[in-house]
Amino acid sequence: MFEDIKKEIIKTGMKMDRYGLISLAGGNVSVRTETGELLVTPSGMIYEEMVPDDVLVMDAEGNIIEGTRKPSSDTPAILYIFKNRPDVNCVIHTHQPYATAISLIDDEFRADLTTLGNACGGNIPVAPYSSPGSEDMGKDTVKYLGDGHCVILAHHGVMATGDSIHQALNAVVYLEDCAKGYLAARACGPTKHLTDAQIRQTVEIYKFVGQDSGKLPEELTKREGI
Ligand code: 13P
Ligand code: ZN
Repeated sequence: MFEDIKKEIIKTGMKMDRYGLISLAGGNVSVRTETGELLVTPSGMIYEEMVPDDVLVMDAEGNIIEGTRKPSSDTPAILYIFKNRPDVNCVIHTHQPYATAISLIDDEFRADLTTLGNACGGNIPVAPYSSPGSEDMGKDTVKYLGDGHCVILAHHGVMATGDSIHQALNAVVYLEDCAKGYLAARACGPTKHLTDAQIRQTVEIYKFVGQDSGKLPEELTKREGI
């Protein structure tokens, strides 16, 4: 059942490792199918060693339909997010060190680098601490997410969402790039800001990036902002 999606989930976990967003078995990946089943990675397994049969298939309440592995310990949070955000079809959880480090110093990661607005949809909120494995992780994600794709979970990691695996993975990878840039600058002193209008502009412009969208309208790129 859902062999191709399971393979894509495992590939996504390996990419998370390749991009330095997790080590070993950290984090998890889950997907909602077009027919409403939830595919969730097994708990504590290394993605490179995972096979499609290891990925659990469950219903929206978390009842296992297929698979014998123990599902992710974050399943209560994952179920909560899918239940409360019908627009979300993929949830990626990482322990990416740079973005997580921001939670030790700030309550928000402001999108002062265009890539952050592009890929994550604007400023990234930092949610207060919640225990790994808790439903609170999901509740906070839903509470703080807004129109964006990522929430930094204080002292823990990142929850990213998307309408597809591609969108959620894009968000966590570029979030980490920006976090590295921000922390490098921050180590040298106070940092400069984009205006709110400029940040909104970066979000709008990204809707025209890629092969599946139309041509970027020139008026969207005006320096005055949108
Ligand atoms: P699982 O391997 O159980 O998904 O746990 C990983 C994790 O990141 C816990 O928050
Ligand atoms: Zn975690």
